[in-house]
Amino acid sequence: MGRSIGKGRAALENLWRRRKELLEILLAETPVLVGTVYDTLRKCGNPTCRCAERPTHRQTLLLFKKAGRRRCRFVRQEDAAALRGAAQRYRQWRMALRDFHTLQSRERGLLKGQILKRAIALK
Ligand SMILES: [Zn+2]
Repeated sequence: MGRSIGKGRAALENLWRRRKELLEILLAETPVLVGTVYDTLRKCGNPTCRCAERPTHRQTLLLFKKAGRRRCRFVRQEDAAALRGAAQRYRQWRMALRDFHTLQSRERGLLKGQILKRAIALK
């Protein structure tokens, strides 16, 4: 009986370590971009440019929602890397939040397991 309490306890402690890692992601203060950054090819509009036949100019776009509506913006090349990084951090944040939720369910289960072991046997 003592051994199984120890196992449940060890599982909880592993879970708390993981939760601490997740909280660091969830509470980080680095800016995030709630949107998607992607590259596309476009035409520049100059009829003598080689893109007149098919789009060749790389253009970075930012997709996001504002007031429930989908919006699209052009991104300057000098801003692209920073925005991609910020979008990546937002994806990581979302994954961390999902993991945090899963972890909380497991924690509840483990805690319930612990209290059942302390229950006075009734005859
Ligand atoms: Zn062109």
